[in-house]
Amino acid sequence: MTRVLLLGGTAEARGLAARLVTAGVDVTTSLAGRVADPRLPAGAVRVGGFGGIDGLRAALAGYDAVVDATHPFATTMSANAVAACRAAGRPLLRLERPGWAERARPSWRWVDTHGQAAELAAELGERPLLTIGRQQLASYLPALRDSAVLARVVDPPAIELPVAWQIRADRGPYELAGEIALLRAHRADVLVTKDSGGEYTWPKLVAAEELGVPVVIVRRPAPPPGLQVVHDVEQVLGWVLGDFGADVHTSATSED
Ligand code: NAP
Repeated sequence: MTRVLLLGGTAEARGLAARLVTAGVDVTTSLAGRVADPRLPAGAVRVGGFGGIDGLRAALAGYDAVVDATHPFATTMSANAVAACRAAGRPLLRLERPGWAERARPSWRWVDTHGQAAELAAELGERPLLTIGRQQLASYLPALRDSAVLARVVDPPAIELPVAWQIRADRGPYELAGEIALLRAHRADVLVTKDSGGEYTWPKLVAAEELGVPVVIVRRPAPPPGLQVVHDVEQVLGWVLGDFGADVHTSATSED
C-alpha cells in the first residue's frame, strides 16, 4: 500500500486526507501541534516537529511520497520539505489554496511584512482588528502599542500584550453577519489580514468593504524554488494514484 506523509494543519489537508483514505491510500497527516484542540483528519495522525531537515529526512524512510498542504505562510515547513525530499529521493507535491489576489478590491493596501502592516494600520486608524494569527502578534507591538487593538486568534498568545489590547479566541469558518457585527462592536477603523486565501475567512473582507473599513493585507511569501504546486485536491489524488509520475494538469512550479 502506498504510504503518503501529508503535512497538514489546513482545511485543504483534511479534505485531502479524507479522499486518500477513501481511495485506500495509507496516509499519515502531520500536525505541528500549535493548536490546543486541533480538528483531526481521517487516517493516521502524528503531532510535533520533525527536528528540522535532517529529522524530516530520517522520518521519510517510512513514506513513499510527501504532500505539503501546510498553510501558505508556513514557509519553514515548506522549505524543509523541499530539502528533505530532495535528500531522501521522495516525490513531493504542494497543495495550496489560491490567494485572494484575484478577488482583491482596488482599495486594499498590500504590504510585504507584518512590520509594514503594523505601521500602515497605525496610520490608517486607531482601533485595528488584527486577523493575522498568534505567531506574528509581536511584530505589531512597536507601532500599535497604544492603539485599541482587537486581535482574533485561535489560541491566546504566550506573549504579554499591552493593556489597550483585547484578544478574541475564535476559529473559522466565519459568516458575513457575524463579521459585520464584530467590526461594528469593536468600532474597528482598519482591518489587518494576510493573504491566506480560501473561504473560511473571506467574509471579513466583504464586511470591511460594506462598512467602508480600510484593509491592510500581507502578501504571501514566495514558495521555495522548484516546488510543484497544485490548487486542487483532485490533482493530488491523481498524482498519488498515478504513482507520483502522472502529469499534474494546470499545475505550475513555484518558479513560474
Ligand atoms: P512554519 O513556521 O513553517 O514551521 C515551523 C516549524 O514547525 C517547522 O520547522 C516544523 O518543525 C514545525 N511544523 C510546521 N508545520 C508542521 C507540520 N505540519 N507537521 C510537523 N511539524 C510542523 O509553520 P507555522 O507557521 O508555525 O505553522 C504550523 C502549522 O500550522 C502548519 O501545519 C500550518 O499548516 C498551520 N497553520 C499555519 C498558519 C500560519 O499562518 N502560519 C495558519 C493556519 C494554520 P521542525 O523543523 O521541528 O520539523
